[in-house]
Amino acid sequence: MYSYFDLLQDIERFKLLGAEVGAVGYSESGLLIPFIRVGEGEKKIIVTGAIHARESLTAKLIVRQIDYALNRRIDGRIYFVPMLNPDGVLLIEKGADYFPQKAEFLKTAGDVYGGFSLWKANINGVDLNTNFDARWGKGAKNTFTPSGENYVGAYPFSQSESRAIRDFTLKIYPDATVSYHAKGREIYWYFYQSESDKKRDFAIAKKLNERLKYTLRKDETDSAGGYKDWCVSALKIPAFTIEIISDEFSHPLSDSALTEEEVERNLHLPLTLLGEI
Ligand SMILES: [Zn+2]
Repeated sequence: MYSYFDLLQDIERFKLLGAEVGAVGYSESGLLIPFIRVGEGEKKIIVTGAIHARESLTAKLIVRQIDYALNRRIDGRIYFVPMLNPDGVLLIEKGADYFPQKAEFLKTAGDVYGGFSLWKANINGVDLNTNFDARWGKGAKNTFTPSGENYVGAYPFSQSESRAIRDFTLKIYPDATVSYHAKGREIYWYFYQSESDKKRDFAIAKKLNERLKYTLRKDETDSAGGYKDWCVSALKIPAFTIEIISDEFSHPLSDSALTEEEVERNLHLPLTLLGEI
């Protein structure tokens, strides 16, 4: 699997190639959540991945997008945040004992959940993509006890990872955001926005989907508390959740699930988005 340490190595390479590298903030265990900025200009977007622990292949895809963007002239700034949930990714890789302070809780929760290979949450059992202040707690699958997935947390932004990306997003104030998930080959863009924003956002989603050729979702949602949901409702900007990888593959995803074809469909997407805003 693509590990947090693989990402740190890739970041050293990006520094040498001239990208700006920094930290969005820290995870609950105190790990840096890195960002990599490519390009110059007025327009700004943020591209995030691996907010769900078992989806570290999205970080691997974003690293490919960074390499691609570094080789091009870009009119605007792309802030890549490949791995929002490094603790969760490390939990899958190393197990509960890697986090001595949380090991007891994690072992119990892991037993209930059936191990860590399908884990989505952070090391407090909070599903970070339900922890944002956007109809918080009202999603169809939301739950209210710590678990490997779907637990919304005690209150919105109760977790350092969701606070970190909230504060970073408010600081950058992007024109649009992309949240990478896996899997299902779908693109989501709707979260109760106004009619005029709906028109704008659907049009952009259609453009993005010209290369993706995924399933373009309609103006309906049963989710809540996600990063995309919060970007749409709090910042009133276009924000997209993109589920990569065909449903022919099943979780836990092996590295081979990120095919070259999948990468190709997504490589140019941040640049396409910059062109549409
Ligand atoms: Zn996900």
